[in-house]
Amino acid sequence: MIIGIISAMVEEVEPFLDLKEAEDMLHYFDHYEDVRYAGRTYHHINYRGHKIVLVYSKIGKVNAALTAATLIEKFGAEMVLFSGVAGAIDPALKIGDLIAATQLCQHDLDITAFGHPYGYVPEGKVYVEPDRELMVLAKKVADEKGIELKAGIIATGDQFVADPKRKEWIRQTFQAHAIEMEGAAVASVCDDLNVPFFVLRAISDAADMDAAFDFDEFLKHSSKVSSDFMMGLVDKIIDDHAQS
Ligand code: SAH
Repeated sequence: MIIGIISAMVEEVEPFLDLKEAEDMLHYFDHYEDVRYAGRTYHHINYRGHKIVLVYSKIGKVNAALTAATLIEKFGAEMVLFSGVAGAIDPALKIGDLIAATQLCQHDLDITAFGHPYGYVPEGKVYVEPDRELMVLAKKVADEKGIELKAGIIATGDQFVADPKRKEWIRQTFQAHAIEMEGAAVASVCDDLNVPFFVLRAISDAADMDAAFDFDEFLKHSSKVSSDFMMGLVDKIIDDHAQS
């Protein structure tokens, strides 16, 4: 299998790359090759007999879309997993909590002037859904490891939201639980190319007045929470593949 893993920022891929130094991983996480393409570095990793292609896309929907398409079309990714941080909209989500997207939408896509709903363009859909099987496997990982994995709608847009009014508008308009800047772009590309995907985020801030401060404070920690869980999911995917 070739598994693509995307994050947006270098800080979010670092905890994955650190695994090659981890003692218990020495025999698994190996054979490293970095391929530079279209302004990004794709890390090719052999892991338990499969291949991981790990990359940070840079921030925002365009960057994420290009990277997802490249992973699939150029590097042959058979599934795409997104790991990173997000702002919480749902007050039940606290810093460090994990949320798996059940649906993703673009909160800044707006042709409502023509009578269309927010987040919609003709021949598209407002909400894109991740692969059901990957969701089931993620739930198993959470149960087995005793980790609380929340699930909910993630809204994506080319804005760092640090504004209670904008946050409330996104909550009301899309019933979103968390907000970030790449997930729906990856989702849309994978959906169009028929490639299973899964989007995981650990909360870094509450998209409020303190968001920029909290983000800087918790980026590293929440990135690691997300990458740790994601490697658990990768293991589960490989185990599941071996059995089928
Ligand atoms: N500090 C960075 C910019 C971070 S942008 C710099 O100066 O370069 C925020 C990143 O984290 C995006 O990749 C986005 O997906 C995610 N994110 C976390 N909290 C967010 C929020 N409140 N609103 C939007 N995106 C958020």
